[in-house]
Amino acid sequence: MLQQVNGHSSGSDAQGRESLREDLQEFLGGEVPLHQLDDLTKVNPVTLETVLRCLQARYTADTFYTNAGCTLVALNPFKHVPQLYSPELMREYHAAPQPQKLKPHIFTVGEQTYRNVRSLIEPVNQSIVVSGESGAGKTWTSRCLMKFYAVVAASPTSWESHKIAERIEQRILNSNPVMEAFGNACTLRNNNSSRFGKFIQLQLNSLLVPRDHQMTGAAIQTYLLEKTRVACQDSTERNFHIFYQICKGASSDERLQWHLPEGAAFSWLPNPERTLEEDCFEVTREAMLHLGVDAPTQNNIFQALAGLLHLGNIRFAGAGDEAQPCRPMDDGAVRTSALLLRLPEDPLLETLRIRTIRAGRQQQVFRKPCSQAECDTRRDCLAKLVYARLFDWLVSVINSSVCADPASWTTFIGLLDVYGFESFPHNSLEQLCINYANEKLQQHFVAHYLRAQQEEYAVEGLEWSFVNYQDNQTCLDLIEGSPISICSLINEECRLNRPSSAAQLQTRIESALAGSPCLGHNKLSPEPSFVVLHYAGSVRYHTAGLVEKNKDPVPPELTRLLQQSQDPLLKVLFPADPEEKSQAEPSGQSRAPVLTVVSKFKASLEQLLQVLQATTPHYIRCIKPNSQGRAQALHREEVLNQLEACGLVETIHISAAGFPIRVSHRTFVERYASLRRLHPRAPPDPHSPSPDEGHSEGSPHAEQATLRALLQDILHTLPALEAAAPAAP
Ligand code: ADP
Ligand code: MG
Repeated sequence: MLQQVNGHSSGSDAQGRESLREDLQEFLGGEVPLHQLDDLTKVNPVTLETVLRCLQARYTADTFYTNAGCTLVALNPFKHVPQLYSPELMREYHAAPQPQKLKPHIFTVGEQTYRNVRSLIEPVNQSIVVSGESGAGKTWTSRCLMKFYAVVAASPTSWESHKIAERIEQRILNSNPVMEAFGNACTLRNNNSSRFGKFIQLQLNSLLVPRDHQMTGAAIQTYLLEKTRVACQDSTERNFHIFYQICKGASSDERLQWHLPEGAAFSWLPNPERTLEEDCFEVTREAMLHLGVDAPTQNNIFQALAGLLHLGNIRFAGAGDEAQPCRPMDDGAVRTSALLLRLPEDPLLETLRIRTIRAGRQQQVFRKPCSQAECDTRRDCLAKLVYARLFDWLVSVINSSVCADPASWTTFIGLLDVYGFESFPHNSLEQLCINYANEKLQQHFVAHYLRAQQEEYAVEGLEWSFVNYQDNQTCLDLIEGSPISICSLINEECRLNRPSSAAQLQTRIESALAGSPCLGHNKLSPEPSFVVLHYAGSVRYHTAGLVEKNKDPVPPELTRLLQQSQDPLLKVLFPADPEEKSQAEPSGQSRAPVLTVVSKFKASLEQLLQVLQATTPHYIRCIKPNSQGRAQALHREEVLNQLEACGLVETIHISAAGFPIRVSHRTFVERYASLRRLHPRAPPDPHSPSPDEGHSEGSPHAEQATLRALLQDILHTLPALEAAAPAAP
């Protein structure tokens, strides 16, 4: 029919028509069943409801990945789908000429980043930001991506390099069980919840084998370990996995050595009866061994951890006289923890019960017995101090085992797995930091993708109704801006070190920042608090304890006590400081400039963003279909909240209302030029240049004119094409 309409036929007509049909079918997704729509930009219209319906249909059809323009949406299957992560499938995505034509998958993102760093023209460092709420699948996704690179980036040229590659890949993968044992815990929302943020830089080398990058190493940076969990767990949650692993997995000899008899009760070990797959001591040990932590060192680590468990069993009773120190209710716990931490018993007890204060002009030293609550705080602080140092030390050991020589790598792929936006009934400094980080990442996303795309349209002169994307700068100004922000006000309280109530802090924040549109109204709460209107929703932060948490004070006596330990591991974690040693008297207050939790976190966040900004970012948004962790169950409300929280609809709008596919002028002409001749009514103007002849390179006006002419031709031809085309098979 087309031949009749146009009076001639050629192979290129048929080709052009076929190309157009393929593209039409792809673009006009209306007839495609919802579960087969693999890009949410094709949902019509794009609303929260339609996006949800599409995701729901796909989830029901066991399809867990969906594109959303530049973002990949990953639904947590909550069940094992081994064929989805097999090495064969990894290789299929790796070998595909156009992996983006395959079904959406994290391997598409993995392969895209891998090809981008491989580009010989302009290799650019890449990053993949994996976000989502707790339990949504961020860590799982990062782990799978690491496995993907371990498979595809191991392209050995010789047996020798194969062995090296295998070693390094295996070591990088081994960092996961170790970091998860020490940094993950069972929470209400996730049985294996990461209680720290992680940025892993996979280092690739192109020097020896151009085009085929090899993973030569990795560098891990962690953020904000939730160290309070060591000494304080919600009754329904658990301590870090490693404590349960040693209690369950120790041999009988080790039990004797570490004073962990079967069935021993530890107050810092709630819910020990539950068995989780994460409680696998052997896997942790094996992985540690591969990372260079030998058996004697492991023994020291586990013994110290057992020491902390016994420390947690120390209870104090008031002496009934403020001038007298509290007494321990069970001498056994003190003795055993001192023994396991290899600390002198009396100084341990003394440090927990008595505070030393320096005062007056002469800086006289006073010894003041602590109240029962203060004793508890000091005990907890000691445990947190040891655990946090141990965790940092482990990360540094892992890094020295996996980090490549700077000369041996040229580019990197960064994987960011950080805690998602949090809003609980009670939110404190931890949530403020986490949500602050999420605001920063959202801004990075907006800046790098949404804004860049809109600006590109403007530069190209494309008519397009601009979506009002939510710029969260106002919220960031409220949290971290200068001169006055929530962070600066909390830091100020720490610096002034003045007694200040939770209510006073609330008043200070609310009056100093009253002008910010992101500070919510605070009428309902009986407790002192303030409300921040985050991009992902409003969160009420309670001010009680905020300043103290921000100071995170460590009495210097505690550090000095730990420096006395005879344990080889603790000696490494707490090396004797020559300056401190020379100070004869202890001091109650540190004179060093106050480096608060918030300021340290802000600095590390800025560092991270600098790294991210120097990379091409890719985004994976993990979604938790339900909070019970059940397979085949998608709870609409829960998913809607998450879609809203990550601004997904906005992202899709920009990608969908904009141009989902960008084709270069040359490709477009090559693909569709033949159709121009099909136009029955408007033959090409002989005076206007033919598309095939092209225009002077770099003449956007000429190119746009040609493009417009072509598009108009095609649009006029479409009805004829559609009428003529045989039905799709
Ligand atoms: P997050 O890091 O976002 O808090 P996780 O990655 O730990 O969440 O995932 C929580 C749990 O969900 C995992 O322990 C696992 O049981 C399950 N899960 C997540 N992603 C997948 C997946 N792709 N396939 C199967 N199970 C998954
Ligand atoms: Mg996690």
